[in-house]
Amino acid sequence: MNLEENFSIKELTTLKVGGEARYFGVLRSASDIEEAQAFAKQKRLPVFVLGGGSNVVASSGTIDALVLKNEIFGKEILEETENSVLIKVGAGEDWDEFVAFCVERGFIGVEALSAIPGTVGGSPIQNIGAYGSEASHVIDSVEVFDMEDSLLKIFSKEDCDFSYRDSVFKKNLGKFVVANVTFRLSKNTDINIPDYPGVKENLNTEKPNLFDIRQTIIKIRGSKLPDPKVVPNVGSFFKNPIVSIEEFEKIKEEYPDIKNFSAGKGYIKIPAGWLIEAAGLKGSSFGKVGTYKNNALVLVNEGDATFEDIIEAQEKIKEAVKEKFGIELEREPILIK
Ligand code: NAP
Repeated sequence: MNLEENFSIKELTTLKVGGEARYFGVLRSASDIEEAQAFAKQKRLPVFVLGGGSNVVASSGTIDALVLKNEIFGKEILEETENSVLIKVGAGEDWDEFVAFCVERGFIGVEALSAIPGTVGGSPIQNIGAYGSEASHVIDSVEVFDMEDSLLKIFSKEDCDFSYRDSVFKKNLGKFVVANVTFRLSKNTDINIPDYPGVKENLNTEKPNLFDIRQTIIKIRGSKLPDPKVVPNVGSFFKNPIVSIEEFEKIKEEYPDIKNFSAGKGYIKIPAGWLIEAAGLKGSSFGKVGTYKNNALVLVNEGDATFEDIIEAQEKIKEAVKEKFGIELEREPILIK
């Protein structure tokens, strides 16, 4: 594997901020991961892996690390029956192209996850989710390289310890590099219509097929989210806070119209976008960084913003929400520094 020194990674992230990686290389196979790990160990450097760069915020200056771009490609159908299919997909494959591949073949389970930027390798790390679906519902196993034990390992779905936008991989960032993900998708069964605002209203049929669902989700996302190819962003910048019912009731006394959803027994999920908007910060500008006009949860780089500008905006938003609602927002994207 060829490694480059002092390589600018800004253009490899959808937020378009960040400095130069001390070393940079492209992964094309699982054995490249092993080679990269040996190099990083010898140089005593941490390793960061970029997929689509759609969920990372990279710091300014020299990032004293080995940054790798995952380009492990390939889709292999391992098993297919009348009712299901098992597909192994390279971590570097584009996520939305994989969704399109499934929809075209009638494989059910990822259609509501249409138009999410990033790669297949990011899907188990972040347990990507949208419109009531999440990666954990369809992941069968994940093949990773363990950077501490220097071994390729297969994690079953249970081993992945998935929870809301989280996994064992996210809890141990840097320890595992995803090589391949194996998905179990259904065939010839009922399609789930997401029970989310705007979905039913935008479907012009009561019996939608996978293609109808995909097109509807693409349309809704397109109307609410900025295209990262046009306006640099990393999607949702904060997680939806989950609070106890008691805490929620207290806030509701003061703000009766607060948007909320059940998050399991005794807990309530409050959309972070609603909180930011209610704090008066939808479409606000903080110098070179702003909250998106159609969705306060998305921070946009309004032109040559730096890492510091992003963090400053993050802190201002967190302070405003904390002051108004007493809720501590948590950043969703990962920092590379
Ligand atoms: P939306 O549909 O207006 O919903 C706002 C929030 O309310 C979402 O965060 C969603 O939680 C929650 N919600 C809405 N209907 C719900 C229901 N029936 N049951 C439980 N929770 C419900 O917001 P949106 O921003 O356009 O997002 C639509 C979907 O795309 C959401 O699932 C969102 O997570 C996903 N999305 C993800 C990203 C990302 O970068 N990760 C970016 C944009 C959108 P959940 O987030 O738990 O679904």
